[in-house]
Amino acid sequence: MSTQQVISFNYTLRNKAGEVLDQSPEGRPLEFLSGVGQIIEGLEERLVGMESGQKEEVIVRPEKGYGFRDEAQIDVVNIAQLPVDQVKVGDYFQAGQDRHSPIVRVVKVEGDNITLDANHPLAGEDLVFDVDVVGKREATEEELSHGHAHGAGGCCGGGGGGGCGCSGEEAPAEPAAEEGGCCGGGEQSQGQSGGGCGCSH
Ligand SMILES: [Zn+2]
Repeated sequence: MSTQQVISFNYTLRNKAGEVLDQSPEGRPLEFLSGVGQIIEGLEERLVGMESGQKEEVIVRPEKGYGFRDEAQIDVVNIAQLPVDQVKVGDYFQAGQDRHSPIVRVVKVEGDNITLDANHPLAGEDLVFDVDVVGKREATEEELSHGHAHGAGGCCGGGGGGGCGCSGEEAPAEPAAEEGGCCGGGEQSQGQSGGGCGCSH
């Protein structure tokens, strides 16, 4: 049985055309627990095999990235079904009340008929990551039991005394909290800005 690791790395994500789509904030590498699907499969596969200090370009195909586009994920709805009065192409919505509901994107507006696409915006894309592994260690028992990394700057923000704001205190209004990646619910982190979670998902 392989040991789960906590890996921190800086990354820049580009598409095949070379446009930067995402990157880790300056001086704040992304830290994750391996083996729990916290980051996309194709990237994790490479990172677990890399050494601290190693830099590499990792190309992730859709089957190990955000999957392929699925036309069944495209739907036309009447604007009356949406939570807002006006939409424009490029707007995003959460398709339900639950915060785990899929995010849909407005791709066409024809009068009251709005075409929504629930595919991930990067579905079908080859992803080009420039990664730089800055830290690697074995996960602690606590991290393994929580299913995410604790630590400076990563998930849980490192802010507030007790390290991880998620431990013990179950948020009553958030039944799904424990399954979220980072601390399960930014809402309960102390004094952190908004989401609280440093993970880019
Ligand atoms: Zn935790």
